[in-house]
Amino acid sequence: MKLKLHWQILIALVLAVIAGRLSGVDGEWLGIHMYPVYAFLGTLFMNALKMIIVPLIVASIISGVSGMGGTSGLGRLGGKTILFYMTTSLLAILTGLLFVNLIDPGLVDGEPARAIVGLDPAAAAQVAQKVQGRTASDLTDVFLSMVPPNVVAAAADGQMLGLIFFSLLFGYFMTRIDRDSGSLLGRFWQGVADVMMGMTELIMKFAPLGVFGLVAKTIAGIGAEQLNAVAVSLGSFTLSVMLALAVHALITLPLLLYLFARVNPLAHYRAMLPALLTAFSTASSSATLPLTMECVRDNAGVSNRTASFVLPLGATVNMDGTALYECVAAMFIAQAYGLELSLVSQFTIVLVALLTSIGVAGIPAASLVAITIILAAVGLPAEAIGMILAVDRILDMFRTSVNVFSDSVGAVLIARSEGEQGVLRG
Ligand code: ASP
Repeated sequence: MKLKLHWQILIALVLAVIAGRLSGVDGEWLGIHMYPVYAFLGTLFMNALKMIIVPLIVASIISGVSGMGGTSGLGRLGGKTILFYMTTSLLAILTGLLFVNLIDPGLVDGEPARAIVGLDPAAAAQVAQKVQGRTASDLTDVFLSMVPPNVVAAAADGQMLGLIFFSLLFGYFMTRIDRDSGSLLGRFWQGVADVMMGMTELIMKFAPLGVFGLVAKTIAGIGAEQLNAVAVSLGSFTLSVMLALAVHALITLPLLLYLFARVNPLAHYRAMLPALLTAFSTASSSATLPLTMECVRDNAGVSNRTASFVLPLGATVNMDGTALYECVAAMFIAQAYGLELSLVSQFTIVLVALLTSIGVAGIPAASLVAITIILAAVGLPAEAIGMILAVDRILDMFRTSVNVFSDSVGAVLIARSEGEQGVLRG
């Protein structure tokens, strides 16, 4: 009997941790230098996923929106989607805020921990250069990018928000043109979407190999210094983020799933496992989107119509794990710098975390830029971000899984509220 895909991926993940630790960056096996092998496998898998993202997003949104039956259907689904995304992101941020206030990771014996955590000066300078000049006004750029001046350039640069906006309009106006042309276009885009799902199924078969490469490379690259940071100097920061993420993914979201959709959370976790593990390994919700769609449709039983609309949007704008992380990270840095944060400042952090999480791209380490925007908003220097670099990658893997999980819960809740009967029930 063939082993189920999620078992294959899980085994690959465990093997990757062992192989990565054993080989490190320089290790050889049978005379072969292993690190480039991991990198090759991982990059090939990431490339294959990224290759289909643009046509997948465009085709699914256009066919989803054009099949929605005009303004009222679209408005209803859009309203529910935005409501769900905003509510869960806010809940996630508040959970983060609670834990960071309870644990106070930036304080050691009541004193700001800046000196103890220490900034890696080289890394900090590098990041500072990258994010130089970012201020809260960059928030407006996020919203400006929704209407791209050149849609082809937006697609080429991975500006998903712009691409989504264009596709929404395209799908909507397909319902307003003459019937013949409209239905011809409808069949065309549906065909493209179906082909992309076919390609996804093929790529999924290689997920165990890809996950192995990505995770082994990450683990091999983790040096003693980073392990030390996770365990000692940044231990309570890591703990605050992980606990808050766990509460959100293991209590809040499952509760919503059970209360509003009567879906057994365990069955939903099982249905989503391949996508969650891929999110964990790639640290990119955008690259995971093809698998998220496949799992939500085929395993969780959500209709094509709902999944096509809710998920591409979710992978781009709904990032619960990211929003939570931004809040905890900014609060941690402020504490470590000895900044007294009034309620007003904390409220600013919550608000900016919510807004920036919408604009953060679904790619690895994208939160860092958003965090510097928050730091600027409360008057801290951008290079302070250097404090959390050592643990960012590891936390990225967890927060990206939470991002993807939240999208999938949204798709199920919305499908149930639309009266869909095929949804997996507990
Ligand atoms: N890596 C995250 C994602 O793709 C974004 C981030 O928080 O950095 O969802």
